[in-house]
Amino acid sequence: MKHAAQRSFEWCEGWGMAFGNYARVLRPRSIDELRACLQWAQSEQVPLALRGGGCSYGDANTTARGAVLDLARWNERLEFDPATGIADVDPGVTVRQLWQAILPHGHWPRVVSGTMYPTMAGAAAMNIHGKNAWKVGPLGDSILEFDLLSMRGELVTCSRDAHPELFHAAIGGAGLLGVMTRVRLKTKPVSSGELWVRAKRTRSLAETMQWMESRLSAADYLVAWLDCFAQGEASGRGVIHEARHLQAGEDAAPARTLSVAHQELPARIAGLFPKSEVWRILRWINHAPGMRALNATKHLLGEVEERQGWYRQSHAAFAFLLDYVPNWKWAYGRHNRHGLVQHQLFVPHAQALEVFLAVLERDRRAGHASFLGVLKRHRADAFRLTHGVDGWSLALDYKVEPQSRNALLAHLDGNTRLVLEAGGRLYLAKDAVIGMHDARRMWGDATLADFGALKRSQDPQGLLQSDQHRRVFGPAWEALA
Ligand SMILES: Cc1cc2nc3c(=O)[nH]c(=O)nc-3n(C[C@H](O)[C@H](O)[C@H](O)COP(=O)(O)OP(=O)(O)OC[C@H]3O[C@@H](n4cnc5c(N)ncnc54)[C@H](O)[C@@H]3O)c2cc1C
Repeated sequence: MKHAAQRSFEWCEGWGMAFGNYARVLRPRSIDELRACLQWAQSEQVPLALRGGGCSYGDANTTARGAVLDLARWNERLEFDPATGIADVDPGVTVRQLWQAILPHGHWPRVVSGTMYPTMAGAAAMNIHGKNAWKVGPLGDSILEFDLLSMRGELVTCSRDAHPELFHAAIGGAGLLGVMTRVRLKTKPVSSGELWVRAKRTRSLAETMQWMESRLSAADYLVAWLDCFAQGEASGRGVIHEARHLQAGEDAAPARTLSVAHQELPARIAGLFPKSEVWRILRWINHAPGMRALNATKHLLGEVEERQGWYRQSHAAFAFLLDYVPNWKWAYGRHNRHGLVQHQLFVPHAQALEVFLAVLERDRRAGHASFLGVLKRHRADAFRLTHGVDGWSLALDYKVEPQSRNALLAHLDGNTRLVLEAGGRLYLAKDAVIGMHDARRMWGDATLADFGALKRSQDPQGLLQSDQHRRVFGPAWEALA
């Protein structure tokens, strides 16, 4: 056990910093070390919360009880076959390690998140999506198989053919059914390390959605930033970014653009100001008036960007915009339970416009306008605890301060109601709010009961649990028992 448990107690928080606890942290790097950790947890009856890169915003990777099982350092094996485009990786291999290994071979991951720091197992456990979600689905649709070690000590390979029920439940299952120890997935061929990108500035949410809808068949990626402070007719105005792959032969120097060096995000703005210091400046405007001005300026500059027409941008610069400013979250305050929560609302196509306008209006009236709004198009998928819908998602960032924390969480609970009434869902990776009644409404009692039965078969003593699990799933299964 000693080698797997590096330190006794550490502060473990969600990425948004607003939720966290001290916990004992275990860091297995092999199947033998993992087995030793699980046996210890079982013999001592210690609950375990699984953790990858710690990039889930809320409390899915934290625990007030027991220990954290951190799989991030189990990250050495990354096998890739350029002929098939199939990668086979350790659980702690990150999105960053993956793209850096495969891009020089002319491949790119089919699905990436807005940051490159999640682990592949953590990403699979939340079934992450990218800016092409309507086209290729969530990450689970690109996963071929994974190995899962249950709390009973059984290691099984899960795929669409072998243990399909576990395959569809553990992907998106928030680490509650077992530990993924290997992930095998498809990647996609690319002929260049760059994309064609263009911007479109919009004046309302209806225009934003109509324009994106009209580009669904032509675009490879679509994402809109929204100004959540804009009111009245301008509510939901924003700037859309559309990207498409270069055709074979279009890139005159593919060997250069496909290199990792070409993708590196510059460390300085205009060659002068270090980006690592930008969060300090953002801190001074990290309040409603400052963010109102920043959002309005960004919308105005969208006009200039639109006039530029199509331009070329590296895959990394387009995909990982949020990594562009290191530690930007610190602008929200780093101490005393300051930070941010992100709430990502998934709503079916027919209801999305009305619900999102209502949420934006409700936020503004309550003085909780989101500092950042991101709109994406999605499709439905076949995973058990899916958040996917044939519709849209709106991800909203809210500042958390100790004095307004409870009021904000109660307010977000109200937004949750609007989403659920419209047949929508919430995303567990961006959640700190939902309760068991919401889970029952989102997935239905039959699905939750099935998942609960799988949980009992995989983890009979119920030791795999995070703070989120105790808030949402534990009470739901008790109510359904
Ligand atoms: C800036 C930023 C941008 C983001 N953009 C997007 C985006 O565009 N799209 C999107 O979908 N998400 C996005 N996310 C969310 C992020 O992709 C997910 O939260 C992802 O799950 C994080 O992976 P992780 O390795 O950090 O896992 P963690 O956050 O540490 O854990 C996530 C879940 O995985 C479980 N888990 C971890 N390891 C294992 C394992 N080995 N076996 C089984 N379960 C395990 C944990 O128990 C937990 O429930 C973003 C996050 C940030 C911070």
